Amino acid sequence: MADVELITRLDDRLDQLVNIDMGERGVEHLFKAARAIEGRSLVGAAADALMAVPEGGTAILTTGSVSRAWITPELGENDGPSGAAAIARALVMARNATCVMLCEETLLPAIRNVCQSAGLFPVTLEQAAIARRDKSLATIVMLPYAVDDAGGQAQAIALLDELQPDLLFSTERVGRNEYGVYHSMRGIDYGMGRARVDLLFDEGLARDIPVVAVGDGGNEIGMGKVVDHVKFNVPYGDQCKCGCGGGIGAVTGCDVLVTAACSNWGCTAIVAAMATRAGDAKLLHTPEREALLLDTMVANGLINSTHGIVDDSVDGFPRQSHLAVAELCRTIVSRAL
Ligand SMILES: [Zn+2]
Repeated sequence: MADVELITRLDDRLDQLVNIDMGERGVEHLFKAARAIEGRSLVGAAADALMAVPEGGTAILTTGSVSRAWITPELGENDGPSGAAAIARALVMARNATCVMLCEETLLPAIRNVCQSAGLFPVTLEQAAIARRDKSLATIVMLPYAVDDAGGQAQAIALLDELQPDLLFSTERVGRNEYGVYHSMRGIDYGMGRARVDLLFDEGLARDIPVVAVGDGGNEIGMGKVVDHVKFNVPYGDQCKCGCGGGIGAVTGCDVLVTAACSNWGCTAIVAAMATRAGDAKLLHTPEREALLLDTMVANGLINSTHGIVDDSVDGFPRQSHLAVAELCRTIVSRAL
């Protein structure tokens, strides 16, 4: 295993790589604010938290954004699912963890198929327990989450009581603002048909369950940690367009916040940092697997939300940029593997 000083240097490079503000959305401000609070690499802190899941433990993950909710709740975006799938794969491989993925029932088939392309076979909780015991199958448990406030609150308590998770992980999952409204980065209310998973994260934080969150815009679960910076440095951060009286910033915080120019890149970097800690190159999210996941997302109708079209650009960044980020993350950590 690589020494601690080397891992720290590599963590910092991964942080820098995925926080180059290629989309000009103000992520460098969010990054600076989150780094100041964390006092070290965000990616490194996230990898430490994920690797601290006990062997055979349980993690609840969420991702998925109903992207054009006013048209149809069946349509999700392609930033989020591939990153979450890469994280779940790494948790299964490194910790033999049971990973439970929460999302809207409407987006569940697409996200399930992305997880399957990442190597995880969808099973029930009971089947996952068998797979954990004999380590015979890499699995994912997909569960639909309530899309109304009361249902979301009740399900938060029921699921946390039942699963007793060791960690909660969110990437690119919009959270409500202080008025209970879910906003797009363009400042509009698009809460209709959206799973209230942020309520489960608030309940998890109240129970002192470690929470790791990845975001790129300021409206995602976890951004409550840098709420003032979202307010002043992100478009519509102080004032949305829906008239609710607030901005787009999510109130739900987290323990470790990872910012990135594209949330999927944050996940790719976290997985690379997990690989250095495990001393195992097999954990890496490779360009080859990223290509497979991009193709799966297109086949399942997840959209490039910047351009409003189903293609293999994510957040408007073209296909090759996502393969390149995976390759550069691999290159950065290669000296530790
Ligand atoms: Zn509003």
